[in-house]
Amino acid sequence: MSETLENLLKETRQFPPPAALAAEANVKADAYAEADADRLAFWERQARRLAWAQDWEQVLDWSNPPFAKWFVGGRLNVAYNCLDRHVEAGLGDRVAIHWEGEPGDTRTITYADLHRMTCQAANALTGLGVTAGDRVAIYLPMIPEAAVAMLACARIGATHSVVFGGFSADALSSRIADASAKVVITADGGFRRGKPSALKPTVDEAVSRSGSVEHVLVVRRTGEEVAWSDRDHWWHETVEQASPEHTAEPFDAEHPLFILYTSGTTAKPKGILHTTGGYLTQTAYTAHAVFDLKPETDVYWCTADIGWVTGHSYIVYGPLANGATQVMYEGTPDTPHKGRVWEIVDRYGVTILYTAPTLIRTMMKWGEDIPAGFDLSSLRLLGSVGEPINPEAWMWYRQHVGRGELPIVDTWWQTETGAIMISPLPGVTATKPGSAMTPLPGISADVVDDQGQSVPNGGGGYLVLREPWPSMLRTIWGDDNRFVETYWSRFDGMYFAGDGAKKDADGHVWLLGRVDDVMLVSGHNISTTEVESALVSHPSVAEAAVVGATDPTTGQAIVAFAIPRGTADVSGDAGEALIADLRNHVAKTLGPIAKPRQIMLVAELPKTRSGKIMRRLLRDVAENRSLGDVTTLQDSSVMELISSGMKGGK
Ligand code: ATP
Ligand code: MG
Repeated sequence: MSETLENLLKETRQFPPPAALAAEANVKADAYAEADADRLAFWERQARRLAWAQDWEQVLDWSNPPFAKWFVGGRLNVAYNCLDRHVEAGLGDRVAIHWEGEPGDTRTITYADLHRMTCQAANALTGLGVTAGDRVAIYLPMIPEAAVAMLACARIGATHSVVFGGFSADALSSRIADASAKVVITADGGFRRGKPSALKPTVDEAVSRSGSVEHVLVVRRTGEEVAWSDRDHWWHETVEQASPEHTAEPFDAEHPLFILYTSGTTAKPKGILHTTGGYLTQTAYTAHAVFDLKPETDVYWCTADIGWVTGHSYIVYGPLANGATQVMYEGTPDTPHKGRVWEIVDRYGVTILYTAPTLIRTMMKWGEDIPAGFDLSSLRLLGSVGEPINPEAWMWYRQHVGRGELPIVDTWWQTETGAIMISPLPGVTATKPGSAMTPLPGISADVVDDQGQSVPNGGGGYLVLREPWPSMLRTIWGDDNRFVETYWSRFDGMYFAGDGAKKDADGHVWLLGRVDDVMLVSGHNISTTEVESALVSHPSVAEAAVVGATDPTTGQAIVAFAIPRGTADVSGDAGEALIADLRNHVAKTLGPIAKPRQIMLVAELPKTRSGKIMRRLLRDVAENRSLGDVTTLQDSSVMELISSGMKGGK
């Protein structure tokens, strides 16, 4: 960005929290002032949510920035905090996980069960020679053993590296090699889209290419035939035969808990390293504050996969540290029917639903009749994460899932931040559709210009974090230089997130997409998010992606790809008419400068496997280049379809 981002989209709707929720909220408005008064004392109080085997001597050591140490000298065990202490408090019979397999099989796992399974897995891993500091790769479907495997690693101080179960042998082997993993935990397969989807062959291929792996632990899930070698061990013959007795040993607050690779939306994934005490403190606090989690009564459901940071922080560590009851679902949202998500909400009485804009926009495409067919009255709070949520998608979520009354927390954070950073507090904030609103108590986020100066209200620029936070990444695994380069060299003394943002007239934060994606049209910096939101505000559009393509007259021109809603007629002339209408609609909503040069109606958009739009591939298409790194792409046939449509012209 040469100057600041233009501020084009005007949004005036605002929704105060429901009075009843506000009155009973876990966190009230005074939390902001309390944290402002003394940020480190605030985080110390949040760390007291956890059980520490040994107290810290210093809250934060920032003597060697950007390498932070939180709760210096403190010792604790993450699995003890997520399991043992709840069982010791007499909560062993509380359901930890209501698990639902895609074929419809179910399991109910209490805290006592999860504790026992984790102790057995810890003993089994120890038996395979895994010791504190070793790396273990986890490549599993969404089955309870995925959480057990992570907790077992945490319990013995092994650093886990979860790799999303949909990734190829290439992606898996490069992650295994990067971390020199000693053990891989996998399954024969999982169920996806109504059929078994094998995992073991991918592991076999990946392991044969990387020298570090000594053992592979295999959960039997699908029962399909698998190839077998000396290094393979069935989970049911090792873990389930192991002793359920295991004493959790405390580890240093800065002991490496996990490595996780970013989603790969913008570039090659980075191996983000998270540690123990600060990470658990902030995930536990944010689950309590942002989801208003009441462990005695709530049934929480986060639809993310465990292979993403959202699954780490808000399926495993945050909710379990709070002793929550949650739903975990193995499969896809349209198997065997498009109401599957709402059927699960209905069946388990889900009270808190945390999902991604991609799912909401898909539901918009499928139509509101589908959620209307289920009883969603148990819901009391909705959340969103992963991408900017377009205001119309936000409104649809509130209207058709939230009965027009539930608060929505739009949570901004990254693999790197470890936990939620900018979000409404559901009992405090009057929310605006499309805005993540305010940095959480104890977090100092800001929007700055090119020079690193804070922009005034109404201005746009770069999102930065001014002060270290407990769950911050500690480095990029094995590459301190890249860590400093990527995040800490753009602005002096600030963490640069890579996202563009603006402050509205009230100082509330709006995320505007990646700075790499910002378009420069005739000297104006225009955000992809705002143009996409303008398109999605048209009644015929469910989802849109825009990119800037080189243009001889304007420098860059806006090229848009739009998915029509199920009801829209897009054949022949009707399609042409819709395109003309959409171009005018954008010009009317945002101003003539934002009028797309070209709009393509498409059936799908290229997305990462975590569901984020990959604009860099669309830019390659719009500029007739060969495609860049596609290893994190969900479905490569989408790109062929779009490219062939593109050759047809405007
Ligand atoms: P890579 O860094 O490899 O390109 P990625 O950034 O997609 O991948 P993640 O860490 O999974 O990997 O995603 C974090 C990013 O997702 C944020 O930087 C931001 O761009 C986007 N994001 C997440 N939540 C929100 C939100 N609530 N509003 C706007 N953007 C969001
Ligand atoms: Mg990123």
